[in-house]
Amino acid sequence: MRCFECGGEVLEKLGAVRMTRKDGSMIIFKGIPMTECRQCGEQYIPGHWVEKIGELMRKEESLTPEEVISIPIINLCQEVRT
Ligand SMILES: [Zn+2]
Repeated sequence: MRCFECGGEVLEKLGAVRMTRKDGSMIIFKGIPMTECRQCGEQYIPGHWVEKIGELMRKEESLTPEEVISIPIINLCQEVRT
């Protein structure tokens, strides 16, 4: 298999996908089998996994996270003003 973007070599790996919840916060699904281009970094997730993630997003409140991390958010608007 070759990258659709640049024709580079793609490697299979377990990756993570970041999704946005209804309230705007983030949720990360990891351990997803995907392929990644060695050249441009383009990631391809198999269709049935995309469906699975969509399905999980609908009931994400009932899922138990392996870990919960906090994510620093830098507001550049504020940075420029001060
Ligand atoms: Zn590529």
